[in-house]
Amino acid sequence: MGTPPGETGMHEAAVGTPPRATGMHEAAVAGPPGETAAPRGPAAASQAGECQQNAIRQLKVLDPDGYSIYELIDDKQFFRRWITCDDVQLGLSTAVHESTHYVTSRHDAFPLVNGGQIGRPHEVSKFYAPSLIAGKFTPSHFVDTYLTPGEASSATDFLYLLDELNAYSHDLNAAVNLDNLRPHDVEVDHRDGLAALMAFVAVYVETAKESEPITWSGLQEPPVANTVAALWKRAEQVMVSSCRIPNIGGEDKTYIRRFCEAGPRSAMQTILGRPPICPVDCLRTPRTASRY
Ligand SMILES: [Zn+2]
Repeated sequence: MGTPPGETGMHEAAVGTPPRATGMHEAAVAGPPGETAAPRGPAAASQAGECQQNAIRQLKVLDPDGYSIYELIDDKQFFRRWITCDDVQLGLSTAVHESTHYVTSRHDAFPLVNGGQIGRPHEVSKFYAPSLIAGKFTPSHFVDTYLTPGEASSATDFLYLLDELNAYSHDLNAAVNLDNLRPHDVEVDHRDGLAALMAFVAVYVETAKESEPITWSGLQEPPVANTVAALWKRAEQVMVSSCRIPNIGGEDKTYIRRFCEAGPRSAMQTILGRPPICPVDCLRTPRTASRY
């Protein structure tokens, strides 16, 4: 059909090699890890195919929600190519993340964690550019990728910041459900992405309240507020459920503390119609592994 696999996926393809594993979601677009890492030859290809089939069977059993994204996508090969045989948990959560973008673009609706979907509110594309808040965060891979113009469309269009929030909700949900597949002795950062996107969305909303009146009033229009509330609720639920697993984040606590601050909380409360939940259990466990 010649249609791009997903708008955000395409934009993310421009990202260079990231410093951390979570960044693979973006950088791998140009060359899926399964393909680049796989040995050549028909035997190796059939071995990789077998491992991908096994991985999808495990997904069906362990993570029905992630499997529903696999069911929704019409291009099964797009999903499969993200699966790596050396880290099935990371491969599957990446496949779920990228396929969430794909399905969102095709359906013009966000598929929700725990089922259902909600239409994309295109009016938010007229809101102020999310890149305006980049300076409010310490420089990081996530700020570079999602808030810097020229990288992902989320930097210039709030619709795609919501798209990333939703993709990372599905991504972390898959990682939590597939935690038994986590390789030993590998440092993982599955929580960082959703923590970063929740902080970006909350600070975006706070900034709108402070200094962007057109966006602030647009955010309170029911179709927009309902969409933000639906996506935020899933993000919150996934984040809270992840807190029982320690040490699956490197920068997660910094971002969680940020969206738990009074300013972002109060602005989010106006949009949600209730106080947002601060996932305090995620802040309790210190990271034990020594970091590079
Ligand atoms: Zn993404």
